[in-house]
Amino acid sequence: MNPALSSPCGPDCRAAVFHAPGQPLQLQSFPVPVPEDDEAVVRISCCTVCGSDLHTLTGARAEVTPSILGHEAVGFVERLGPRPLRDVAGVPLNLGDRVTWSTVIACGTCDRCRAGLPQKCRQLSKYGHDRALGRQALNGGLAERILLRRGSAVVKLPDDLPDEIVCPANCATATVAAMYRCAEPVAGQRVLIFGAGMLGLTAAAMAAARGACAIAVLDTQPRRLELAREFGATATLAWTADGSDLSESLRELTGQALWDIVLEVCGAPAAVAAACQQGDIGARIVLAGSVMPTPDIPFNPEQVIRRCLTIRGMHNYTPADLLAAVTFLQEHGRRFPFAKLVANTFPLDRVNEAVAHALEQRPIRIGIRP
Ligand SMILES: [Zn+2]
Ligand SMILES: [Zn+2]
Repeated sequence: MNPALSSPCGPDCRAAVFHAPGQPLQLQSFPVPVPEDDEAVVRISCCTVCGSDLHTLTGARAEVTPSILGHEAVGFVERLGPRPLRDVAGVPLNLGDRVTWSTVIACGTCDRCRAGLPQKCRQLSKYGHDRALGRQALNGGLAERILLRRGSAVVKLPDDLPDEIVCPANCATATVAAMYRCAEPVAGQRVLIFGAGMLGLTAAAMAAARGACAIAVLDTQPRRLELAREFGATATLAWTADGSDLSESLRELTGQALWDIVLEVCGAPAAVAAACQQGDIGARIVLAGSVMPTPDIPFNPEQVIRRCLTIRGMHNYTPADLLAAVTFLQEHGRRFPFAKLVANTFPLDRVNEAVAHALEQRPIRIGIRP
C-alpha cells in the first residue's frame, strides 16, 4: 500500500530547525496545517542535503532563522485543499501521488514571471529558505511533512525511480536543464564543464544523453574526475589556476582548445575567468557556480565581440526546466550512476550526525529519510 495512505496525518510532525551557523539542528514539533485552496501537505520520503544547505549551516551564506533547511525533497501527497493544487501540466494532484516540486514559489502574474523569470518573482519565496513561522512554518525538506503552496511547480514522479536518483531533480538537475536551455543546441557540440560536483556530473551526463561530440570536465579533485568519466565525460583534467595555459592543456588532452558550450558550475573566480576564455566562435558560456559574493575577474571584451560569444548567468530554473529534469532522470537516471552519488542516508533523528558526515567526508550528497 502506498505509504502516504497507510499513515494518517497526525496533528503534529517533526522538523529539524536551523537556528544559527555552527549550532546543531534542533528537532521540533509543528502542527500540520490544513491545506487551503491550491495547497497540499506532502509526507517527505527523502531529502538530500545540497551544498547550499551546507554553506548555510557553516555560515558561509546568511539565511533567515529559525528555518527548516533542505529543498531537494520528494514525497507523497497526503492532504489536499478544497481546490487541489495542480501539477505543471495543469492536472489536479491526487492523494498518494509521488511528487517533487520547484524550490521557488512564484506568483505567475508579475512582470518577471511573465518575462520567463519566475525564479525572480516580485513575491518570491523559496522552500528551505524562509523563516519557519506560523501556518507556513513547514516549508523545508528536513522534516516529516511540508506544505506546498499556490505557485509551486509540482511534477508527478513514477514510483520506480529511486529517491536517491530523483531527489536532486529540483535543484542540480533542473538548474543544469536551465543552463542547456540557454546553450542549445547540444547535439554534435563540444562541451566544456568547470566543476565535477552534483551540477557538473549532471551536466556531463545530460551532454552525453543529448549527443554532444566531446565532453571535457575540469575539477581540482581527482576523485571527482574519476566519477565524471562514469557520467559521460570523454576527457577530464585536474586543473588549478596555476598560470599554466589551459587552452594548451586542453588541446594536448582532447585536440580541442576552444569549445561550443562552456558551463561553469564550481564558483571559483579563476575558473569563471577561464570559462569566459574557452569559447570558440559562436560559443554559449553559461555561469551558475558563483552563488556567493566573489571578487571581480579580468574580462576581455575584444574576444567576446570577435568570437560572437554569449555569456549568460543562470540562477535556479523555470517549471519547464524542472519537468525536463525529471524527464531526463526518468530516461537516463539509471544509465549513469546517479544513485551512488548519495553516499549515505540517515533518519531525521540523526540529522546532525548526517551533517557532520557531509562536512567531514564531502560526499556528493547525503540523504535524510524522515
Ligand atoms: Zn540545492
Ligand atoms: Zn511573480
